[in-house]
This record gives sequence, structure tokens and C-alpha cells, in this order.
Amino acid sequence: MSAIDRALARLRAAGLAGASLPAERSSLACSCGCTEAHVIARRQTADGRHLAIWSTGEITHAIGLYLRGLGTPRSRWGVETRIKAVRLMMDDFGAYDADEIPTLIRAAEGTYAHDYSSETDRRIHAHAIARRTLARRAA
Ligand SMILES: [Zn+2]
Repeated sequence: MSAIDRALARLRAAGLAGASLPAERSSLACSCGCTEAHVIARRQTADGRHLAIWSTGEITHAIGLYLRGLGTPRSRWGVETRIKAVRLMMDDFGAYDADEIPTLIRAAEGTYAHDYSSETDRRIHAHAIARRTLARRAA
């Protein structure tokens, strides 16, 4: 089973994807209008790993394996927050090693409990949280 098939199967099981995507869930649709899981971007990490970023908020290595340590959100809110967090941070993946990306994404997800005056402020705060968490772990 390919990565895209696995992603679709999981999202369908959670009622979050498919041709019959209800309008109320349209926030899960990519801005390109496609509601099926697809790769929206590819990014290289600081340690040279090539990652594929999916419209579902999932992140896989180029060969299709899921990035370890990220986990799967179980609620609709969790999935939406994952998608927003991944899209917010993906242009900064090059500043982190692949095994640091889950910490970065979780930091960004945490920012959605608050309002920020701009998405740039949210992004900067997510970086600060992630750097602090990674520094603490290294100590
Ligand atoms: Zn798209």
C-alpha cells in the first residue's frame, strides 16, 4: 500500500476525506480545490533529508515512509491544526534536522490555542518554543 493510499484510508476511516467530503469539512481541502490527499510541497531538512508534505498535513520521506515521531491526530480539530501547523512551518524545515521536525510541528500546533497579531508572530513564537524544547532535550 502506498503512502497516499494509507493516508487516504486513515482519513476516510476518520470521515475526513473522500469524494463525498461534506461542505462543513471543506477547510480540509487544499487551496488547489482537490480534496484527495496529494503532495503539496517538497522540502529538504538541514541534515539533507527530502520530505514530502501532504495536503492532509502528513509528512513522509521521499521513499514514502512516515516521518517518525509526529503521531496521528485523532480528532477533526487535531487534523485541521496539524494541516495549519505544517503549512505554517514547512518553509523553515531547512533550518531543522528531520528528527527535529516533529518538535517544530508540535510547537506550532500549540500556538493555535492563542491568537497572534500576525501569522509571522505565530511562526516566530513556534520557532522559539521548538528551539527551547530541543535545547532542553540536548542538555
Ligand atoms: Zn492541492
